[in-house]
Amino acid sequence: MQKKRIDSVDVAGKRVFVRVDFNVPMEGGVIGDDRRIKASLPTIRSVLSRGGRAVLASHLGRPEGKGFEAEYSLAPVARRLAELLGADAPHGVAFPSGDCGDDASRAAVAAMPERGVVLLENLRFAKGEKKGDAAFAGTLAGLCDIYVNDAFGTSHRADASMYALPMAMRAQGKPCASGFLLAAELEYLIGRIASAQRPFLAILGGAKVSDKILAIENLLAKVDRLIIGGAMAYTFLRAQGVSTGASLVEADRVGLAAEILAKAKARGCEILLPVDHACGREFKAGTETTTAVGAIPDGWMGLDIGPATRAAFGAAVRSSRTVVWNGPMGVFEMPPFDAGTRAVADAVVDATAAGATTIAGGGDTAAAVEEFGLAARLSHVSTGGGASLEVLEGKHLVCLDAIDDAR
Ligand code: AMP
Repeated sequence: MQKKRIDSVDVAGKRVFVRVDFNVPMEGGVIGDDRRIKASLPTIRSVLSRGGRAVLASHLGRPEGKGFEAEYSLAPVARRLAELLGADAPHGVAFPSGDCGDDASRAAVAAMPERGVVLLENLRFAKGEKKGDAAFAGTLAGLCDIYVNDAFGTSHRADASMYALPMAMRAQGKPCASGFLLAAELEYLIGRIASAQRPFLAILGGAKVSDKILAIENLLAKVDRLIIGGAMAYTFLRAQGVSTGASLVEADRVGLAAEILAKAKARGCEILLPVDHACGREFKAGTETTTAVGAIPDGWMGLDIGPATRAAFGAAVRSSRTVVWNGPMGVFEMPPFDAGTRAVADAVVDATAAGATTIAGGGDTAAAVEEFGLAARLSHVSTGGGASLEVLEGKHLVCLDAIDDAR
């Protein structure tokens, strides 16, 4: 999965289209969290520092492709980006309003000085973007000399800027490459998993078995151990005949959970399920709590793994050489039910310090690790929720093929 990376492409004097993922949380024009902007700074700086011109494009939210909608404008992102780039962008960040590829954006790109930066308006204002439209991609291709994918979080969607555009660039003999962010995602999520050192452990958690079933099936064939936590675990416990009280159980997946347990056994993959539980009376903050060992009594719901499980899961993590984690162990947004996710995060940090390769992916898992202040102490925290889950499911991300000739 090695792609040519942008730092090996000569960008001096060239217009470099960088498809970034600046889909930041925003409310009333205020950016809630600018991590996604910061994540692409190395790629943008690499272009600018070598005399290139950076034409940046992203989607934001889910406008329906009917033209400009103020609430989805990237204008606040342009301002924040200019602040973050500072002196690295000596001409500031130009932000042509209107649709990507229209006269205003063409004029802004044509007027770019060396080391200039243009951020185009939200790609999804154009109806061709979500449709993967070749004509729209052709218009964008006309803007630039080089294409860079630095939007891992969108790489499972064949939107025009993600797939048709690099295909059009290739057809015109223009180079395509990965940005630094995409390259790091591929190195860890694909490269390090393919060459995982053993013991190889996967930790899956979160709300629903149905959301993670494909990942479970794919990982079963690869890992030595699989931890199942979060609400998902109760469907598996039910399949083992354990009472789960009022916990979230997907009744229609109990049979499937039993099949998975049997399959794991046949393959010699050890499955670790919670042996005790932090329970609440209700799904709400401040609810009455108790710890249940084994079965969960009627009238209680499991909202987190219990202390013995924290210890057992922690030991499994600390004794592994490769750890992939997707999904929280409990309702981490609602203390005290964050304790299980924290304990696993601490163990993953310890494993990393001891030399293991550790990878966390999925929106909630990344958010939890960030909130605990531990992200920098893992080998890799993925920026892509849906995209990283698709990789764990063993799916092929079609947009990566589009930059494949770039070896
Ligand atoms: P997912 O998006 O599938 O990774 O699920 C994450 C969500 O699962 C988080 O919002 C957690 O609060 C929730 N979750 C984790 N454990 C439980 C549990 N025991 N009961 C209910 N929800 C849970």
